[in-house]
Amino acid sequence: MDRADVSLADNHTHTARCGHAEGETVDYVEAALAAGLSAIAVTDHVPMFWLPEDQRDPHLAMALDDLPRYVDEVLALGDQYRDRIDVRLGIEADFIPGHEEGLRRLLEPFPFDLVLGSVHWVDGWLMDGPRSIPRFQQGPDEVDRIWKAYAETLIRAARSGLFDILTHLDLPKKFGFRPSVPFAGRQADVVTAVAASGCAVELSSGGLRKPVGEAYPAPDLLRDLVAAGVPVVLSSDAHAPAEVGFRFDDLRDLLASARAASQSRHCL
Ligand code: ZN
Ligand code: FE
Ligand code: FE
Ligand code: ZN
Repeated sequence: MDRADVSLADNHTHTARCGHAEGETVDYVEAALAAGLSAIAVTDHVPMFWLPEDQRDPHLAMALDDLPRYVDEVLALGDQYRDRIDVRLGIEADFIPGHEEGLRRLLEPFPFDLVLGSVHWVDGWLMDGPRSIPRFQQGPDEVDRIWKAYAETLIRAARSGLFDILTHLDLPKKFGFRPSVPFAGRQADVVTAVAASGCAVELSSGGLRKPVGEAYPAPDLLRDLVAAGVPVVLSSDAHAPAEVGFRFDDLRDLLASARAASQSRHCL
């Protein structure tokens, strides 16, 4: 098995610690082995450091005092499985404008192999939660406004220097609400900012399990990112052990198509 093959690593998985996933960390590692992967990054949701303690939802992320236990558990599994699979210590960290320093201080004591940067919160509300659907349903102007605000936040996340991999880049499409034009006119700026950041992006099969039924990012965005030289890694965003490596064959096909499309564009 070639452990350097990036298409054999799942770079985004959760555990029961976050309160909305099922299965212990060891179950995810076993699932990765069974799926024939060479590496799995455990990347559970970061504690909700930016909110007062009484407003942190235990169904969205682990508690603050759970973080050291989480780290110890993943490191111990890394030792235990060393000869069979690479278990990487990661975390999915929310980008919250104005709280960059808080995140930096929170993560600094721990030896993370990778930090995923995610924009789930836009202007203080959970943009991809089910309760946000009525907001998208207000009409095309509001949909565009959400996408634009999301794009601005994502650009700031890319520039923050906090992250190794940017996740589900076109997340506002989750429930099927598309902007009138890509990213409400900011897609080229997003690609430029991501390319300049040095971050990789994930090609995630998570979107295939959502109402939108499409991997993140969409084919045209993925093509533009590849053309701009942005590294792409694969991920499942598994919230259950059975989802580890979910539809990676399809992701490999999507990536190959994006590479072919970006090359044919170069030739024009
Ligand atoms: Zn989650
Ligand atoms: Fe996420
Ligand atoms: Fe996730
Ligand atoms: Zn996610």
